[in-house]
Amino acid sequence: MEAIDIQPWMFRVEPLQGESLSHFLGRFRRANELTPTGLGKMAGLGGAIARWEKFRFNPPPSLQQLEALGVVVRVERERLQEMLPPPGVGMKLEPIRLCGACYAQSPCHRIEWQFKEMQGCDRHGLMLLSECPNCGARFKVPALWVDGWCQRCFLGFAEIAKYQKAI
Ligand SMILES: [Zn+2]
Ligand SMILES: [Zn+2]
Repeated sequence: MEAIDIQPWMFRVEPLQGESLSHFLGRFRRANELTPTGLGKMAGLGGAIARWEKFRFNPPPSLQQLEALGVVVRVERERLQEMLPPPGVGMKLEPIRLCGACYAQSPCHRIEWQFKEMQGCDRHGLMLLSECPNCGARFKVPALWVDGWCQRCFLGFAEIAKYQKAI
């Protein structure tokens, strides 16, 4: 906690197409060895980081909060907003869902998978999975997706598409 406020350098992490804020924050924190609390302190956001990583957007992140986060992670506020649900779109906090075919193309959790009305992936014509098809484990919050595989049976998320049913 002591040195964190004067840390002059931070690794920049490039956002991926469609990536959810939770997944992005997890990658940024690991690249810079920060806890949610540590990042929250740096950005002056208190406990908001931990809530956002769990898709708890009630109340929604304010423009000022996103500006403050943007300064620390060096990503424009508009780009951060793309990692959030658009206004009026309902979010499903649980279960965390996944399209393995998308993951194989771009290794990240996509924000659209947590939209309430989203049952399947339009891009691939596949139903989303809400648990590991091999062992039944729930997926962790995307901020904790370190290796891109099921934490219980190690099935790779990129290999999961073959278990997905067609829409
Ligand atoms: Zn897909
Ligand atoms: Zn599994």
